[in-house]
Amino acid sequence: MPRKLFVTTALPYANAAFHIGHMMEYIQADTWVRAQRMKGAEVNFVCADDAHGAPIMIAAEKAGMTPQQFVATIAAGRAQYLDGFHIAFDNWHSTDGPENHRLAQDIYRALRKNELIDVRTIEQFFDPDKGMFLPDRFIKGECPKCGTRDQYGDNCEACGAVYAPTDLLNPYSALSGATPVLKSSEHYFFRLSDPRCVDFLERWTQDGRLQPEVANKVKEWFSRDESGKSGLGDWDISRDAPYFGIEIPDAPGKYFYVWLDAPIGYLASLYNLFARRGLDDAACDAYLAQPDLEQVHFIGKDIVTFHTLFWPATLHFSGRKVPDHIHVHGFLTVNNDKMSKSRGTGISPLRYLELGLNPEWLRYYIAAKLNGRVEDIDFNPEDFIARVNADLVGKYINIASRAAGFLGKRFGGLLSADLGVEGRSLLDALRAHRATVEELYETREFGKAVREIMALADRVNGYVDQHKPWELAKQPGQDALLHDVCSVCIEAFRLLTIYLKPILPALAAQVEAFLQVAPLQFADAGRSLGRHAIAPYQHLMQRVDAAKVEALLAPPAAPAPALPGGEAIAPEIGIEAFAQVDLRIARIVDAKAVEGSSKLLQLTLDVGEGRMRNVFSGIRSAYAPEQLVGKLTVMVANLAPRKMKFGLSEGMVLAASHAGERAEPGLFVLEPHAGALPGMRVR
Ligand SMILES: [Zn+2]
Repeated sequence: MPRKLFVTTALPYANAAFHIGHMMEYIQADTWVRAQRMKGAEVNFVCADDAHGAPIMIAAEKAGMTPQQFVATIAAGRAQYLDGFHIAFDNWHSTDGPENHRLAQDIYRALRKNELIDVRTIEQFFDPDKGMFLPDRFIKGECPKCGTRDQYGDNCEACGAVYAPTDLLNPYSALSGATPVLKSSEHYFFRLSDPRCVDFLERWTQDGRLQPEVANKVKEWFSRDESGKSGLGDWDISRDAPYFGIEIPDAPGKYFYVWLDAPIGYLASLYNLFARRGLDDAACDAYLAQPDLEQVHFIGKDIVTFHTLFWPATLHFSGRKVPDHIHVHGFLTVNNDKMSKSRGTGISPLRYLELGLNPEWLRYYIAAKLNGRVEDIDFNPEDFIARVNADLVGKYINIASRAAGFLGKRFGGLLSADLGVEGRSLLDALRAHRATVEELYETREFGKAVREIMALADRVNGYVDQHKPWELAKQPGQDALLHDVCSVCIEAFRLLTIYLKPILPALAAQVEAFLQVAPLQFADAGRSLGRHAIAPYQHLMQRVDAAKVEALLAPPAAPAPALPGGEAIAPEIGIEAFAQVDLRIARIVDAKAVEGSSKLLQLTLDVGEGRMRNVFSGIRSAYAPEQLVGKLTVMVANLAPRKMKFGLSEGMVLAASHAGERAEPGLFVLEPHAGALPGMRVR
């Protein structure tokens, strides 16, 4: 029976694009899943956007969108990263999908039936202007310890003190600036302190399914006081309206805290995948309930609490199967600097792709650094270039490029079936490492796997250097030996490709086409090609260009210095306000001076309406009429017509200037890029 696996990565919060840390987790999980599939496992590998919570609600409001529109915008940008780095999820969904609403409410009802939900009144800061309770990160004030101003409600960035938002001096709402007031509200709690939960979780976290360092860390949270009471506190799972989330059944105005429904999104994405395959919820229920199904979550070390306490308890006490493995990884640093967007460090995955850097170089480099423990790994540019150029290209790709030419030119692309005693023993040695390589993938010791495979590549290159096919090719009567040596190289290259395929799936597909073989599985290592025709060799992988890596790490272009005497930015508006202004591309069909005015030009504009518009524009001091005729510009097309001394003006042409400058050389009429047509709307 094939192994059955349900695998997820952590759900990314849908308020920003992916950073390099996301890609590390996806590469780790994708590599593991690909290795499982190459062993014949049946895998469902899913993820989703984590869509709910106050930060998204607030960000959406700032962008003038509904939270749903905001999340959809973020979600639309995901594919270019995932496809770009060959991350092959079977499904990508959203925690705001209908499946998640249904599942979260079902699970909650089951917990309530199990008497694990409590309702308690708590006091919280409330923003009277916004009419909402404030999350900790949206309350600011002076640090109670050192007095530094503008510190967040949970900790001080100046002195590091940790406190409750109610401890802040002179608190204010980061949303409105208003002074928050304390207000009481009913909150719903998951009773994790219930002895049933404590007993279950103590067993579940210590039965060997977690990494030892994770199990040890979690153990501290259970430490009991003198009375024998566990340190596990109850978990506040509700938030008050307005909130972007899932409504709590029978509790008007109450929503699930985002962390209650986020992991349920793993299941929701799977149900959605089943539906896409034409299977109903019952089929997915049955799949998830199978005793031999393994549920595996890949996560970062920052969300261990949620996945080792809240999540298994949520599943277990709602009558569901619990996760079999939580694979925790560390963070990715760049040049040993903690990745931080605010400091402008880190590597943009999109910029990486835009620069034409090969995505599989990054997959290989990250794999070469990863292990099965919770350790941070560092992206070091020199190390990256060295490993790709010296190992991946220099040792592995080189084997094929050294042998394939002779096979094509001298032997019609046909491999020898004999290979010689020495060649066969080299290949047997390579095959003998299959179990080790498979086991290293299984335990996520990808770095060790890469070292093991590169040591094998060294042995193959030793064989090539010893037999020197380029010299054999010049010696008469050595054709048979040359044929064997080159065939051994290709067979060895095929074996190494099998071992590297979970890390380098696109390259492996190119190799499969070159070797004219079906998609390679681990079991193919046990066979040999024999007398087999291969395709002409085409170069498989370039070396890294150091200049591109330098460009990748270069700090983003600095903003232009502030203009002296520059105009202040106008007060913020919502997108609806902007949408009221109908801007159109207009062709300036005619332009002429206006008699009796030193400032105005009379423009005849075509905005694609089947009629012309007459517009008076105060640009005469900067433009001669003939400079404008035939050009395209941008106009406000729905401005109320204005009766002027010289006639009716039916709109306004856009021009840029400093405050007070209305003449040459400080006035610039806008012109669209080539290709725009009269009547197109500017949005
Ligand atoms: Zn402080």
